[in-house]
Amino acid sequence: MNYRISNRAAALTPSLTLAIDSKAKQMKAEGQDVVGFGAGEPDFDTPQHIKDAAAQALAAGFTKYTPSSGIPELRQAIADKFKRENGLAYKPSQIIVSCGGKHSCYNAVLATCQEGDEVLIPAPYWLSYPEMVKLAGAKPVVLSTTDRTEFKVTPDQLRAAITPHTRLFILNSPSNPTGSVYSPAEIQALGDVCVDTGVLIMSDEIYEHLLYDGAVHRSVASFSPAHQEHTIIVHGFAKAWSMTGWRLGFLAAPEPIAKAIDAIQSHSTSNPTSFAQKGAVAALTGPQDHVKTWLAEYDRRRRYAHQKLNSIPGLSCVNAKGAFYLFPNISRTGIKSTEFCAKLLEQEKVAAVPGIAFGADDYLRISYATSLANIEKGLERLDRFVRSLTK
Ligand SMILES: *Cc1c(COP(=O)(O)O)cnc(C)c1O
Repeated sequence: MNYRISNRAAALTPSLTLAIDSKAKQMKAEGQDVVGFGAGEPDFDTPQHIKDAAAQALAAGFTKYTPSSGIPELRQAIADKFKRENGLAYKPSQIIVSCGGKHSCYNAVLATCQEGDEVLIPAPYWLSYPEMVKLAGAKPVVLSTTDRTEFKVTPDQLRAAITPHTRLFILNSPSNPTGSVYSPAEIQALGDVCVDTGVLIMSDEIYEHLLYDGAVHRSVASFSPAHQEHTIIVHGFAKAWSMTGWRLGFLAAPEPIAKAIDAIQSHSTSNPTSFAQKGAVAALTGPQDHVKTWLAEYDRRRRYAHQKLNSIPGLSCVNAKGAFYLFPNISRTGIKSTEFCAKLLEQEKVAAVPGIAFGADDYLRISYATSLANIEKGLERLDRFVRSLTK
């Protein structure tokens, strides 16, 4: 049998973050004392009232197919959220609920991009974006940034990269992997360039609620009706409600795009899990105080980790303003990120994700979605490891 793998599938790079996370988990299961900085998910449990709502729905027999783009109650709750928190008016028909924020991104790319299209992706980027673009048959075009500009692209850089083939610009603020947050003025300027040139924006706002040091989030869609018409907002329940395993994300899009995504979804996954959607309604309509508590804890860890990373000779790290990641620069150690992370795991049993996975080989990603005790232990080991390199 000739197991020919399709060109689309063969062109993909498997997710390195998931690979490192599972390697670390396996070492742990074997009894090794591993410190994991690889996780891309909160270490807090889903709030109880959300679990209760899903459990009640399950017990009540809410176990059948729902409309493929989500239950009306949830689409309405999402539309209300956009109105309340972002000042954006969407009809429920413009909202599509999917099986995770990742699925929402994928649907958005698949519905809008095809062969011959170019998609602009600032690096360091969330590692799934270029792969999704390739799956759609389009070409990822990377806009590089460094820690000197807090990993932000400028409007000039964006404008210079736009060609007649540019279809989509992917914006992710607060950012995974850098924790960088664009100011409202910076977001508006990037949005202006896209409106001027007729380029669509996919704005991944999943970390919208995780902000520090007084940083504010402003959706690029919110500056004018034209900005909204040029934008697909992608979001999800994974991060601010700690619902990664529930697989629930959503997007808000101009009507024709939402329609196309509904069609794609109706022929691929159909609806996201019925009773999980009931939990999501509770997430949006119930109390939000858990976010404050979690933020206070993330902030404590961020402050400690940022200061500690900068105290290690050979490393430097700009501070994050959002999400739960730091992205230290390792260029002065003289080795690149893959070798750095492999040796770090081998010698010191510390799992971090090499920056190359995010298109930035001089960095690594440290997730502080783990206890302060773990962070202290892991960064002590990282310190010893870097000193052993420079000896
Ligand atoms: C976590 C994450 C998502 C979505 O994750 P799901 O688990 O699929 O909801 C989307 N974008 C970014 C940048 C993320 O970090």
